Amino acid sequence: MVDPIKDELIYRVLYIDLSRKTFWVRSRPDLFNKFLGGTGVATQLLKEELRPDVDPLSPDNVVVLAIGLLTGLYPTASKVVAMFKSPLTGNLGESHAGGRAAIAIRMAGYGAIVIKGASEIPVYLSIHEGKVEFKDASALWGVRSSLTIGKVLREREPWPGLRTIMRIGRAGERLVRYASVVLETYRHFGRLGLGAVWGSKKLKAVVIGGKRSVPVADVSEYRKVYKEIFDEITKSPVMQKYHDLGTPHNVMPLNVMGALPTRNLTSGKFEDAEKLSGESFAEYSLARRVACAHCPVACIHIAVIRERYPHEKYFYTTRYIGYDYEPIYALGTMLGVSDRDGLLRLIEEVDVAGLDAMSTGVALAWTTEAFKRGLITEKETLVKPEWGDWKTYIEMVRYIVKQPNEFYATLALGTEEAARKYGGLEFALTYGKNEMPGYHTGPGAHLGYLVGLRHSHLDNAGYSIDQKYIGKQYPPPEKLVDEIIEEEAWRQVLTSLVLCLFARGAYKPATVVKALTPLGLKLSEEDLRRVGFEIYKEKLKLKLALGYKLDELKLPKRIFEIPTPNGLITEEYMIKALEYYRNKVSEMLK
Ligand code: SF4
Repeated sequence: MVDPIKDELIYRVLYIDLSRKTFWVRSRPDLFNKFLGGTGVATQLLKEELRPDVDPLSPDNVVVLAIGLLTGLYPTASKVVAMFKSPLTGNLGESHAGGRAAIAIRMAGYGAIVIKGASEIPVYLSIHEGKVEFKDASALWGVRSSLTIGKVLREREPWPGLRTIMRIGRAGERLVRYASVVLETYRHFGRLGLGAVWGSKKLKAVVIGGKRSVPVADVSEYRKVYKEIFDEITKSPVMQKYHDLGTPHNVMPLNVMGALPTRNLTSGKFEDAEKLSGESFAEYSLARRVACAHCPVACIHIAVIRERYPHEKYFYTTRYIGYDYEPIYALGTMLGVSDRDGLLRLIEEVDVAGLDAMSTGVALAWTTEAFKRGLITEKETLVKPEWGDWKTYIEMVRYIVKQPNEFYATLALGTEEAARKYGGLEFALTYGKNEMPGYHTGPGAHLGYLVGLRHSHLDNAGYSIDQKYIGKQYPPPEKLVDEIIEEEAWRQVLTSLVLCLFARGAYKPATVVKALTPLGLKLSEEDLRRVGFEIYKEKLKLKLALGYKLDELKLPKRIFEIPTPNGLITEEYMIKALEYYRNKVSEMLK
């Protein structure tokens, strides 16, 4: 009988040196057995490979891609963790993506991939059948659309098996600090500038695939547990919502409660929210749903837009554009855009360029307010930004990529850099230099963004904690911090295995214990919690080593001015919470 815990494929770490055009493989059961994969293993590999003081855009930066012990085995174990030093924040960068990448890495026979060095000329990596080929990508460098790169590589790399195509767009090539990596057609490593790191390495794309199988030790037990989890996911009303409307189902509830950031968070309500609701998109724009590999939910919603050819009365071109809550918030409500088709075109432009939608939207929202307040003029912006004017925003997205003047070159470094130079720091919505996610639900959301180790809403779901307390007595700061840390520590288990966080309700501790058992891994719920805390601490230590400073944590002033569903946030409350958090962290790391 095969013992997958001794199966060396998941333990295999593929090392690639772009400078020397070499690769080698090492088996690391020590890492996978202790840290489960994903976030836990990536943290350790980065610690081993990265000198903390390196410039994030130098050849010495290191990129780790890691999957987990459950990848390819259970529904929604469909994500990959990317870890690197972030050129946006200057410290730890971690981004997660779905699509086919996780399963493709597993089918190719690896548990993690470490990419080091930099190429002198643009290259793409073709990884399959135990080989890594370094292929000239000079002809792909400078191509306007990241989507075209995907199409070209699909034809150039026709080998069989499950395959992923990850690539950067022009934004990554031009080192925009919030450039993304686009996967397949509708998924991304969006946050914290992985695209710029690839650009600095002259790495245009990575194509990975394979046909290997994933053995399990106890097949009949595995089938039983698989069915339980599958049933739980497919019958859950929460997952049904993700299937029906996708993440945009959030738009209306957040708007009703006054938590939908609008026009650079000058309001928590958008008067045209209904036009951008999940329901409206589904009714007027939805073309189809797609799913990440090994996911029965299919939460990825694809809209269709039609455009008439000029001079041809009855001839149309149709294009398909993925939409989610976060781009609707960042490029829609934050910019006052209520024209649904206009918003889809703006989302498409951001995708074509290979930019993070959230950071781009927040940067454009800050620019619009700074322009209206006279801190910057048309000399800087080259256009007249106006809330709702999506056509102008499309031009501005192109300027962020091209950087035709000093203003756009600065905006390409991030919103906070631009606000430091031109003023308006008080309304620059950034947390540790990362731009704000789309929830203004109360203290939990904002504290969560600030202290979350990715500065992401998904680190600890502070926004969910807020929603529990609407209409009730809000907890004292100490309790809020404890809840945030507890949740973030548990999520390290999920992102190490690397499960989709949308399905977190189906993967309670008892279920994760059951899921690991047929693989021959016997851990109790208590063991898992301990591993979660261990990974959290390891990641925090790495982040601190890379330059994260707890004393410098600051919240944007704007968040104290706009009421949340839990009332106005007070500075006094947040100061107490931060003080308690710092003490707690020092205790934890002793
Ligand atoms: S729920 Fe959505 S994001 Fe999560 S794995 Fe499924 S399709 Fe991908």
